[in-house]
Amino acid sequence: METKTMNIKVEKAKTSKIGQVDFDNLAFGNVFTDHMLVSNYKNGSWGVPEIVPYQPITLDPSAKIFHYGQSIFEGMKAYKDEKDAIWLFRPMDNCRRLNISAKRMAIPEIPEDYFMEGLKALLKLEKDWIPQTPGSSLYIRPFIFASGNGFHASPADEYMFIIAFAPSGAYFSGKVKVLIEEKYSRSANGGVGFAKAGGNYAGQFYPTQLAVDKGYNQVIWTDDNTHEYIEEAGAMNIFVRINDTLLTAPTSDRILDGITRKSILKIAENKGIAVEERKIAVSELIEAAKDGSLKEMFGAGTAAVISPISTFGFRDVDYDLPETPNSYAALFKKRITDIQYNRAEDNFGWRFKV
Ligand SMILES: *Cc1c(COP(=O)(O)O)cnc(C)c1O
Repeated sequence: METKTMNIKVEKAKTSKIGQVDFDNLAFGNVFTDHMLVSNYKNGSWGVPEIVPYQPITLDPSAKIFHYGQSIFEGMKAYKDEKDAIWLFRPMDNCRRLNISAKRMAIPEIPEDYFMEGLKALLKLEKDWIPQTPGSSLYIRPFIFASGNGFHASPADEYMFIIAFAPSGAYFSGKVKVLIEEKYSRSANGGVGFAKAGGNYAGQFYPTQLAVDKGYNQVIWTDDNTHEYIEEAGAMNIFVRINDTLLTAPTSDRILDGITRKSILKIAENKGIAVEERKIAVSELIEAAKDGSLKEMFGAGTAAVISPISTFGFRDVDYDLPETPNSYAALFKKRITDIQYNRAEDNFGWRFKV
């Protein structure tokens, strides 16, 4: 990897939108800051990133993103502590994962210093946009898409890498009711489920809408081959607590290697909680729900951190989870957010000062 002192050009926005934002009532990801970072891939290499005013992009109707879906993204957050210091959480992991996704989608990899130095420069410029209200953060969306032209079904020769920011409140409110999906699949062996590729999410919308129409909030994806094992909760990794053992499905071609997931596994190990990374059968869940040993289920991902599940549905039967005192969900959420917001010691080396 080449490292050079980077001179990131900044074109400032003429006016700021920040005065129009109600920071006490932020939704998730629908307000954007004044600037974005852009790098263009042309003639076989990525250009030095530049910061420009946040604005629409003009593309040719034949741009390959529209036809062949070469599009990948990341999701991360910046946090502001009480002393106005800015923190990231394991940002190099996002950078590396973006390039893992890039490789699978035949997209050229972004140099790590363009990602990291570009992100830091944009964060410093937009620091006033990082909310300080509890639970709020600056959501960071790095993404790459095929901007090159042509109807020929082949990888594009031009791409855009963009980082945009959205000050955001908490992601989910309350516990979620989920439906175990037996017909549709999110991903398959040899497929792109492990990549944060745009099409993975498009493919989830229809089955999720069917579940919503039945009164659920989310779908639990099962393996595409037998539909007997649970794999992910919507766009989150899934955790189950049976008695005092924490279970999660092992990562694979089909399952995204979540940073929240692996942080939870480390914290659990550190706290002496028994952990099993193994296939979790739907039949095992149902048995555990019936005999009372199923204590908790939750999704894990950057946006919500932890999303506790109150009920799961399977073949028209709903199984309610108990209210478990001293839940693992609450413990992990507190430990992770305390590290993220610089409220507690970080003995894992995850917090990154901007
Ligand atoms: C992003 C994502 C996750 C969570 O990953 P984090 O790194 O924890 O945010 C899990 N599953 C899917 C399908 C995802 O897209």
